[in-house]
Amino acid sequence: MTKAETILVIGAGEAGARAAMALRENGFEGNVTLLGEEAHRPYERPPLSKAALTDEAEPQAAFILTPDRLDEHGIRHLGGRAAIAIDRAAHAVELAGGGWLRYDRLLLATGARARKLALPGAGPENVLYLRTFEEARALRSRLTPGVHIAIIGGGFIGLELAAAARARGTEVTLIELSPRLLARAVPAAIADVIAARHAAAGVRLLTGLGIERIEAEGARHAIRLSTGERIVCDGIIAGIGAVAETRLAERAGLAIDNGIAADKRLATSDPDIFAAGDCCSFPHPLYDGRRLRLEAWRNAQDQGNAAAKSMLGGGDAYDAVPWFWSDQYDLTLQIAGLPDEGHETVTRDLGDGARLDFHLASDGRLIAASAVGPNGKIGRDVRLAEMLIAKRATPDKAALADGSVKLKGLLAG
Ligand code: FAD
Ligand code: NAP
Repeated sequence: MTKAETILVIGAGEAGARAAMALRENGFEGNVTLLGEEAHRPYERPPLSKAALTDEAEPQAAFILTPDRLDEHGIRHLGGRAAIAIDRAAHAVELAGGGWLRYDRLLLATGARARKLALPGAGPENVLYLRTFEEARALRSRLTPGVHIAIIGGGFIGLELAAAARARGTEVTLIELSPRLLARAVPAAIADVIAARHAAAGVRLLTGLGIERIEAEGARHAIRLSTGERIVCDGIIAGIGAVAETRLAERAGLAIDNGIAADKRLATSDPDIFAAGDCCSFPHPLYDGRRLRLEAWRNAQDQGNAAAKSMLGGGDAYDAVPWFWSDQYDLTLQIAGLPDEGHETVTRDLGDGARLDFHLASDGRLIAASAVGPNGKIGRDVRLAEMLIAKRATPDKAALADGSVKLKGLLAG
């Protein structure tokens, strides 16, 4: 690998911003350019489905980097500019509207975009989505008391949005295709607690139901369900998943495998091009090299850091324990590791209605932990569980179930 003088980061989101900073933190003195399609400086997305919708004051973007910090670190941020092609032979990237940027090393941190509903009547005039600050602002203006919104999709966006809407006095019907909420990433026991909390808050939850079409109903909208029922509402928001933003990589002929395929050091099939964040799939050493693509805030940060080191010729295999959280009402849920790899579950009662489930592999190794409870009640224990997972520990099951046994003690053992 030749020494890099110019590093270009495409995607000024969580992973891209962190990588640009980490290049400086790791001593890189060459040129760093952070290119982003959005006009804004990099900002945090998690508040968009939470405080940005519920706070009294008009929301402001939660910027990750101030102009001063960008200056201090000598990072050139080009906002409102999309990359449209990579000429790998020339080591150059073409920008929409004209112009090329050269690179020695390139990081693709292009994130993901909202999956769009493919249904008759589901055009942008009828259905809103939530990925960007502008979309959050537009959505917030619809969440007024007495108005009825329908949310399609019982994943993270749908549920956090439902909680925010109820906090603003908006009526909510949530429609999910699967028989239960959060079917993909969250074990049923935790999802059931979340479902009960939404029902108690007055959300009408319709699971296991398909949608046939969306129709106009005067100035309102109607969703026709597969059962024939029509849900008439004032606004429709879909949160039906995210699609990895791989188009640029595909056009450049890079390997794609459920995202931009990277190796354990986050290098793509081109040794001068790396990937990080929601767009990146990589083999995880904790799960026998299973290829994962994670759509989570901390992963974007950690991979931004790791990719920066790799681009500078250092770096180890990326092996951070997957982790994410979601806040809904007074509840928080956290998942560390991959519960779907579990063979057996042991539950610990954390008190005040909080529970922590440990997921064990067939050989007794702790491979994941999932928890739900009042805010502030689960974080510490999930953190310790995460450390046990990273350590590949095989803790005693009775000790895991016993709330009087300190997890810190198990870690030391
Ligand atoms: P992004 O943040 O999507 O950034 C990618 C950037 O690249 C975008 O700005 C995009 O415009 C730009 N880009 C794409 N293609 C190009 C191109 N060709 N040229 C130039 N720029 C380009 N995770 C949690 O763990 N907990 C949460 O509570 C949580 N809440 C969330 C709430 C919302 C509403 C959303 C949308 C996500 C939430 N997440 C949460 C997920 C988390 O925010 C993402 O995993 C994280 O933002 C991913 O960072 P990223 O940098 O990979 O991608
Ligand atoms: P998500 O969490 O993947 O959930 C999408 C949900 O929609 C799933 O339950 C899915 O069911 C369902 N669905 C898929 N296609 C459907 C269809 N045609 N009709 C009805 N339902 C359908 O995705 P999301 O909630 O849209 O969130 C988008 C992105 O933002 C993700 O990257 C997510 O991680 C991120 N985000 C994260 C958080 C957090 O971590 N706290 C909060 C907000 C947003 P199946 O699983 O059966 O397909």
